[in-house]
Amino acid sequence: MSQKEIAESLTLLEKNWDIDPVLKDFELGKISDVADYPVKVKNVMFHIPFLLKEKKYVLWKCYWPDCHNCCDRQGRLPLTSDDLITIGEGMKYQKTSDFIKNETLTITWSEAGSTGQSTTMTTINLKRKKDETPEDDGTHISCRFLDEEGGCSIHPSRPGVCYLYPFSTWLESEKGNARVHASFQFTGDCPGFYLEDTIDPMKEILDEYSDIVYDYNMKSNRTLREGFGSVNF
Ligand code: SF4
Ligand code: SF4
Repeated sequence: MSQKEIAESLTLLEKNWDIDPVLKDFELGKISDVADYPVKVKNVMFHIPFLLKEKKYVLWKCYWPDCHNCCDRQGRLPLTSDDLITIGEGMKYQKTSDFIKNETLTITWSEAGSTGQSTTMTTINLKRKKDETPEDDGTHISCRFLDEEGGCSIHPSRPGVCYLYPFSTWLESEKGNARVHASFQFTGDCPGFYLEDTIDPMKEILDEYSDIVYDYNMKSNRTLREGFGSVNF
C-alpha cells in the first residue's frame, strides 16, 4: 500500500475518530526512530513497534461494534482451503467448485514482504460485492456481508483473513524450524492503534491472537500445498 493511499485512508478516518498526531506521522512513515520489540506469545513472535523518541509502544484494541471500518473499506479477501469449504457450505453450495465459480475471483497480486522484498501471490478471493471484477482488486469496497448492525452475516465462518486483521503474518526459519511471526498492518483504516508506556494492556489480546495467527498460518500454508494458491518471491 502506498503512502498516498494510507494518507487518504487516514484523512477519511479522521472524519469520525481522533487520531493521535504522533501515530498519524508514524503510519505515514514520517517517524524513523522506531525499534522492533519482539514478544513471543506461545507459538508466535509478535513484532510491536516502539517509538524511541517518545518512549512509547504502538498497541491496538478493537472498537467493534462502534467501528467496522475494516469491513467498510475491505481491499481483498483471500481464502484458505478451509474457508472455501466452510463459507461455501454456509452459503448453501453443495459443491465447492460451484462456490468458487460464482462467489470468488482468482487474482494474482503483489505486495511488499516482511523484509521489503516484493512477493507475488495468486489467491482465490471472496467477492466483496456480487459483481466484483478483477479490476476491483485492492480497491476499497464495503463488504456485501456487512449487516446493518455492523456485524458479519457469515460469522462465524467469515474468512480467516478477517479474523487476522489488523495483523499480518509470515513464516521464517529459526534454527531449522519454522517460526510464525506477526506484525500490525498499518493501512490507515483502523482507529484502534494507541501509544502506551508498556505492552501490558495488550497481553490478553496477544494471547488470544497468538492462536488465531498460528491457526491462520497453518491453514494458509496448507492452502498453498493443496494448490489453491501460489507465492513467488
Ligand atoms: S477497523 Fe480496527 S477498530 Fe475498527 S473494527 Fe476493524 S480492527 Fe476493529
Ligand atoms: S466477510 Fe465479514 S468480517 Fe470479512 S470483511 Fe466481510 S463483513 Fe467483514
